[in-house]
Amino acid sequence: MSLQLNCPTCGRRPVEEFIYGEIPVVPDVIVDADARDVDRAFMHSNPEGPLTERWFHVYGCRRWITVRRDTRTDQLLGGA
Ligand SMILES: [Zn+2]
Repeated sequence: MSLQLNCPTCGRRPVEEFIYGEIPVVPDVIVDADARDVDRAFMHSNPEGPLTERWFHVYGCRRWITVRRDTRTDQLLGGA
């Protein structure tokens, strides 16, 4: 069984209905704006452990939700 996310509008839905969006860490000083944009779009840090994530319910209500998930176990820790 795949991971299910709890959308406040649609209820529990399979993760395949969502698009992942990592919350970027904004540096104090931006040296190269192009490199920053490429990193933001294509490079996910994929840390191990608890992580706050944004998911877009593309095949549902088309709203963003915030999820706190342990990336080691896929266990949802709170949030939506
Ligand atoms: Zn939804």
